[in-house]
Amino acid sequence: MMSSFSSFEVLEETALGCTACGLCEGRTQVVFGVGDPHADLMFVGEGPGAEEDRQGVPFVGRAGQLLTRLIADIGLSRDEVYIANVVKCRPPNNRDPNPVEIDACRPYLEAQLEFIAPRVVVTLGNFATKLLMPTKEGITKVRGRTYPWRRETTLVPTLHPAAVLRGGGKTLAQVRADFVLVKRALAA
Ligand code: URA
Repeated sequence: MMSSFSSFEVLEETALGCTACGLCEGRTQVVFGVGDPHADLMFVGEGPGAEEDRQGVPFVGRAGQLLTRLIADIGLSRDEVYIANVVKCRPPNNRDPNPVEIDACRPYLEAQLEFIAPRVVVTLGNFATKLLMPTKEGITKVRGRTYPWRRETTLVPTLHPAAVLRGGGKTLAQVRADFVLVKRALAA
């Protein structure tokens, strides 16, 4: 697939001015993504929350702090990976993004995946997993293993860090086990 954006910079600039769906009305700013655009490892979350909307950076709230720690635990920093979301604008009151919004935003995520071309993609939670993987199963069923994905990429679906914050010890152990798979896939 050829990207319809001439460069990563043009892609980001275009996204920052996007008005393709109704989420543009409630946002403070677009939360495009953060990290190394040449990273081997890319995370895909759901959508910005209040703190992300305020700062313009994904995963900087409570769930983000947990994600940052999980990344550190496999020996990496946020600067060495890339972090993005399914939708780039905060849904009002943190409601789930709807199918129209997900569709409208998809070209940005697809172009990010194409430019970054990570070796390993981690989908955080059901929204990212169901968007990128052809499955009807929930995240608790599909997590715990790796999947070959598109051309020469490994996909690792895992729990959303916000679900881990709610779920406690068992879910933390699961997400840690999935991050071991991530580390192994990066080393392969
Ligand atoms: N949750 C997400 O899915 N994405 C963020 O950027 C923050 C919280």
